[in-house]
Amino acid sequence: TVVIVGSLNMDLVVRAPRHPQPGETIIGSDFQTFPGGKGANQAVAVARLGGKVRMIGRVGQDAFGEALLATVAQDGVDTTYIRRDPDAPTGVALITLDAAGQNTIVVASGANWRVSAQDVYAAEAAFKGAEVLLMQLECPLDAVEAATDLAHRYGLQVVLNPAPARPLPPHLLARVDYLLPNQPELSLLAGGESDREAAIRSVQAMGARNLVVTLGEEGALLAIGDQREHLPAYKVTVVDTVAAGDAFAGAFALALSEGKSVREAAIWGNAAGAIAVTRPGAQPSMPRRDELLQFLKE
Ligand code: ADP
Repeated sequence: TVVIVGSLNMDLVVRAPRHPQPGETIIGSDFQTFPGGKGANQAVAVARLGGKVRMIGRVGQDAFGEALLATVAQDGVDTTYIRRDPDAPTGVALITLDAAGQNTIVVASGANWRVSAQDVYAAEAAFKGAEVLLMQLECPLDAVEAATDLAHRYGLQVVLNPAPARPLPPHLLARVDYLLPNQPELSLLAGGESDREAAIRSVQAMGARNLVVTLGEEGALLAIGDQREHLPAYKVTVVDTVAAGDAFAGAFALALSEGKSVREAAIWGNAAGAIAVTRPGAQPSMPRRDELLQFLKE
């Protein structure tokens, strides 16, 4: 079982010939809504791969909240610990795509930013019998720290995907078993250091012992203490790279929860990320277990 403390957002996507200037109105087309939020995406990734997943989070008492709860539940995510917040709207991401496929994104966190340490302690039962806690940074750090406390109390391994990146306190980094940044996130955590190895050293010196750095089409780098191993990406035809990192994180956490080694877990992450980039969308692109196993065999 994997416990996730994280965000649920409705992604509101509109296509436009170009991005508007400040003060300008332009006519777009093809408005669509997609369930998203890193927490929910990663929860769906775990569930699709056959894992049990309990999600702790908040949505508003509005139609988006209703829809998000329904879609993650349909994928098999346990929504018992997701609160309906009467005083905040469900999180949304306003996404504009121009003709070249470049996006601009504004996230209004809404209920996600009201997930509290109290919420986490109230969901203590979710941690019992679970093996892995998986988190991102779209909820307040208080909640992340509270969850880390409970994970230690109940013997869960802690996996943190530091996205979106922000500086993290050393006492938190020291309690994370595996930190899963992508390259820009690694650099930001290391105070802007752009050399990969120097950045890894710097984040390790702050307290994080083990990093699994995702490298897009280059795969992933394991940095376990002083050991380094590069795991190349699988060669695929890219359709849409949205949520590749979420697919990786979900598959990685699930594999760890099943007792697989960190190396094997990262290989699962690479495979799930590769499959996800061959398909459009975030949650819809997450692979099922049989697909992933088949992919690993080929
Ligand atoms: P994010 O989506 O967070 O920016 P990355 O771009 O590092 O993260 O991608 C996460 C993972 O998805 C990579 O480690 C890799 O396993 C897989 N992936 C991403 N892009 C590709 C690609 N072009 N080909 C194969 N695998 C990919």
